[in-house]
Amino acid sequence: MAKEDVNPAGKGNADDAVVESKNFIEEVIEQDLASGKHQSIITRFPPEPNGYLHIGHAKSICLNFGLAKKYGGRCHLRFDDTNPVKEDVEFTDAIQRDVKWLGFDWGEHLYWTSDSFDQLYDWACTLIKEGKAYVDEQPYEDIRAQRGTLKEPGTNSPFRDRPAEESLARFADMKDGKLDEGAAVLRAKIDMASPIINLRDPVMYRIKKATHHRTGDKWCIYPMYDWAHGQCDAIEHITHSICTLEFENHRPLYDWFVDNVDVPAVPKQYEFARLNLNYTVMSKRKLLKLVEDNHVDGWDDPRMLTISGLRRRGCTPRSIRNFIDSVGVSRNNGIIDMGKLEAAVRDDLNEVTPRMMAVMDPLKVTITNYPDDQEEELVAKNHPSDESFGTRPLMFAKEVFIDRADFMEDPPKKFFRLAPGKEVRLKFAYLVTCQEVIKDDDGNIVELKVTYDPDSRGGMPADGRKVKGTLHWVSAKHAKQVEVRLYDRLFSVEKPDADDWLDQLNPDSMVINDKVLVEPALLDKKPGEPVQFERTGYFNADSRYSKDGQPVFNRVVGLKDSWAKIAKKG
Ligand code: ATP
Ligand code: MG
Repeated sequence: MAKEDVNPAGKGNADDAVVESKNFIEEVIEQDLASGKHQSIITRFPPEPNGYLHIGHAKSICLNFGLAKKYGGRCHLRFDDTNPVKEDVEFTDAIQRDVKWLGFDWGEHLYWTSDSFDQLYDWACTLIKEGKAYVDEQPYEDIRAQRGTLKEPGTNSPFRDRPAEESLARFADMKDGKLDEGAAVLRAKIDMASPIINLRDPVMYRIKKATHHRTGDKWCIYPMYDWAHGQCDAIEHITHSICTLEFENHRPLYDWFVDNVDVPAVPKQYEFARLNLNYTVMSKRKLLKLVEDNHVDGWDDPRMLTISGLRRRGCTPRSIRNFIDSVGVSRNNGIIDMGKLEAAVRDDLNEVTPRMMAVMDPLKVTITNYPDDQEEELVAKNHPSDESFGTRPLMFAKEVFIDRADFMEDPPKKFFRLAPGKEVRLKFAYLVTCQEVIKDDDGNIVELKVTYDPDSRGGMPADGRKVKGTLHWVSAKHAKQVEVRLYDRLFSVEKPDADDWLDQLNPDSMVINDKVLVEPALLDKKPGEPVQFERTGYFNADSRYSKDGQPVFNRVVGLKDSWAKIAKKG
C-alpha cells in the first residue's frame, strides 16, 4: 500500500471515527484564519492549456476548490498561458468543461497569465533599474554551463554587471522583436554561488516569435513560469498557492520575486505529493504522444485517465471526487493502485445506476412446457435496494438467452448456476430446471432445453422452496443485438516509464464484442446515463460511436465476480 494511503484526509480509523483528521494544508489554513493573517482564503487551479486534464489534475482541482469551499473562500481558474507554441483554444475549452463537470465553479474568477503580461513587463523593468535583473546575450548552452552543480558554484555571466540602462534598452529590443530567438534572455540577478540552484540568476524571459492564442503578435517575449506564477498569485491576492512537490526547490525563488517586487499581496507556496497511479502514464507529453500517434482514440479515449476519457467511459464526477478524497493529501510520494480508482467508480455506480438485462455470450434456452406463441409482460425492479428507481416492464417468451458462463455441464460443488437437472431462477421471471443439453457435431453446447414452474411467476415458487441461483436473461424474440467495448488497463506493466513505454501498451486494452443481446429499453440510453448490466458490470453509451443507429456501450468497470474468487481458491 502506498504510504499516502495510510491516513486519508477526513477518514479516521474505527477507534477515532468521530475525530476528523485534517491534512497539513488545512492545518496551515486554520492557523492563518485563527491568527487573523487572512480573513478568508483564496486558492487557484493553474493549468497550462497544453493538453487535456487528467486524473492527477483532478487531485489539484478537488484540493484547491475543496479548500475554498470548506473555508468559505474562493478558488480561481487561471490559465498559465505563457508558452504559445504548445497552447491551443481546444485545450482551454476542454479544461473549463472538465473542471465544471467535476462539479466546481470559479464564478467570475477566470484569469489568464497573459492578461498580466504588461504588468509583468513593467515589474521586470523596475527590477532591471534596481540592478536586480539583466539581459544576458550569451547562447543558452553557455548560460546552462555556467550554472554549476550541487557541489560547484555557478560562474557569473560577462553581461551580469552591464549598466542597467543598457539592459533596459536591450530588454526593449527583445520586446520589439529586434533580436532573434535565443539571442538574449532576461535574468534575475540573485546569487550565482547560492546552494539553491534556482537562485543562480534564473531566466525570467525568453524570446519566442510565435502567435499567442490570446495576445496575438503583441508579444515576442514570454515570461518563465517561476517569474509569472508567483506574481500572478500576488495580483489575484491568492493566499495559499498550492502546487506539487517538484516545485519545492522553486519556493526560494518564488519568495525572492514576491519580496523584490512591489506586489499588492504576499502569497505563500505550499507543496503536496502529486497523484501517481500504476498501469498508466500521467505526463501530458506522453498523453499527447498516445493521441498524436493514434495509439488511442483521441484525448477522450475511454482508456485514457483524462477527465474527458473517464467521462466518456462512464465514470461519474462524484466517483472521481470520492477517489481523490480517499487518497488524501500529504507530502509522501506514492503510487496508488488502479484498483482503488476502480473500486470508487464501482461504489458510486452501484448507488446511482439502474439495472438492466444484457447477455454477453448468449446461449439459447428453450422452455419446453411454455406455450409456443405465448408472451407476457413481467415487472422488473430497476434497483435492488433503492425503491425510488421504480420498475419497468420486461417481456418473456418461450425462448430466452442466458450467458454461457452461467451453465456448466459438469459443475463443481457451490456452482449455483444452471447445470443438468438443476433448478435456477430467471430473474423477475420463473424458476426453470435444465432437462437436456443440445450439442453440435463438434460437441459444442448450442442449446439447453428446460422446463419452467408456472406457479413461480416473478421468480418466487408457490411452495416457498429455496432456489439459490438467479440468472439474468433476455427474451430471444425481443432482444436487440449491440456492440460492447470491454476495456482493460491501457498498459500491461505497473510502471510504464522506461524508454520503451510505448511497447508496454496492453494489446487487450479494448476487446469488442458485437454479439451482445440486450433488452430493448437499453437502446434508449444516452451517453452519461450509465447502467448496470445485471451481474456483469457497469456500462455507458459511447458519446462518439453508434452502430446502425443503436448505442455502442463502453464497459466502465466490471462487478466483482464472486464465483471467480471461489473458483480460484479451488
Ligand atoms: P504534466 O506534468 O502532466 O504535463 P503539469 O503539472 O505541467 O502536468 P499543469 O497544467 O501545469 O500540468 O498542472 C496544473 C496544476 O495541476 C498544477 O498546479 C499541477 O501541480 C497540478 N498537477 C498536475 N499533475 C498533477 C498530479 N499528478 N497530481 C496532483 N496535481 C497535479
Ligand atoms: Mg506545469
